[in-house]
Amino acid sequence: MHGEELQYMQEAYDTNWMSTIGVNINEVETQIAEKVGTDHAVALATGTASIHLSVKLAGEYLYGRGEMGKGALAGKRVFCSDMTFDATVNPIVYEGGIPVFIDTEYDTWNMDPAALEKAFELYPDVKLIDLAHLYGTPGKIDEIRAIAKKHDAKIIEDAAESLGSTYKGQQTGSFGDYGCISFNGNKIICGSAGGAFLTNSLEDSKKVRKWSTQARENASWYQHEELGYNYRMSNIIAGVVRGQIPYLEEHIAQKKAIYERYKAGLGDLPVKMNPYDEKNSVPNHWLSCLLIEPEAMCRQVRGEKDALYIPEHGKSCPTEILEAIRSINSEGRPIWKPMHMQPIYRMHDFVTREGNGRARTNAYIIEGSVSKKDGLPVDIGMDIFNRGLCLPSDNKMTAEQQDRIIEVIRACFE
Ligand SMILES: *Cc1c(COP(=O)(O)O)cnc(C)c1O
Repeated sequence: MHGEELQYMQEAYDTNWMSTIGVNINEVETQIAEKVGTDHAVALATGTASIHLSVKLAGEYLYGRGEMGKGALAGKRVFCSDMTFDATVNPIVYEGGIPVFIDTEYDTWNMDPAALEKAFELYPDVKLIDLAHLYGTPGKIDEIRAIAKKHDAKIIEDAAESLGSTYKGQQTGSFGDYGCISFNGNKIICGSAGGAFLTNSLEDSKKVRKWSTQARENASWYQHEELGYNYRMSNIIAGVVRGQIPYLEEHIAQKKAIYERYKAGLGDLPVKMNPYDEKNSVPNHWLSCLLIEPEAMCRQVRGEKDALYIPEHGKSCPTEILEAIRSINSEGRPIWKPMHMQPIYRMHDFVTREGNGRARTNAYIIEGSVSKKDGLPVDIGMDIFNRGLCLPSDNKMTAEQQDRIIEVIRACFE
């Protein structure tokens, strides 16, 4: 927090604009649209709400309003990122759709265009792609847009983690037909909660604003022709977001410094930092992550909720490193567990570069083995989940605290 957040909240309080109308909301919409470079932004209660209303909009655009009680995507498949937070995916199901998970690539840890092409071979009729930019790193946007264009598919861009990141000089959140960002407490801008829907279509922005406020028609009583939601941002939350916006670039600079410091401090270990396309993209470095080289992995097994490992000289694993970090009262995290490995989505289609991988069974996870072809893992998301972890990345972390973290990680490989 920087101070202005409280001032804008206080202004809302003093003028009694405590609900879903007010100057803070208007300012957030104007400033975020300007920052990301879209014509319109709609301030919402959460990033998830923004993804939900994007899914609903896309569904109605593609398939019509649909039957009451079944959702706008009833029975329709949607291609979506596999290694991501479940909020990318769940809204598809809210609208009755069926997520088909597309495997990850090693270059940016996002949706693999080669796997997406395979998915269109399997399901040529799919018209919607739901794409996340993980940990603030832009995905392979040009390739994915070209594939979408070829198949006449719309793109929902989940830029919840990547506000302020650019690809070829353009901000993430502005590439898709529908853009979604989040101001949740842990994101690059901390609104305590909140999200925004981004679009260049005035009509779409109006629809989302209306749906988010219970879909009231323009009448003196509560008149309803459409299904509504209580998804609008509050003017108090908007005060926090508004106060944070001027600090976005400062936060990004801090996150980048953290990433670079880890990179330098861990450079001679058998690990790599989470990669990005250095030629075309400037990530916001929301989270710094590590990937351990395959030959430097000690044995580690993960069940559904527990993990075990066998320590070994010169080797380590995410479980050991996360334990070491915790032992100095700091916090790291595993990589987002891929959706096709989640019990809730285990039976869903999962498409790799090699074609339809189908959901893996528990046995795979417990053995910790990743199926391979020509010595390379087929299931890339599972491989990154097994070997990767998120490092403590808070922008208030001091250099001394970070050095201590680097020290305990180095000790894991001794
Ligand atoms: C945080 C996050 C969301 C959801 O945003 P909320 O504001 O928490 O609802 C969606 N997708 C991804 C990838 C996220 O990290």
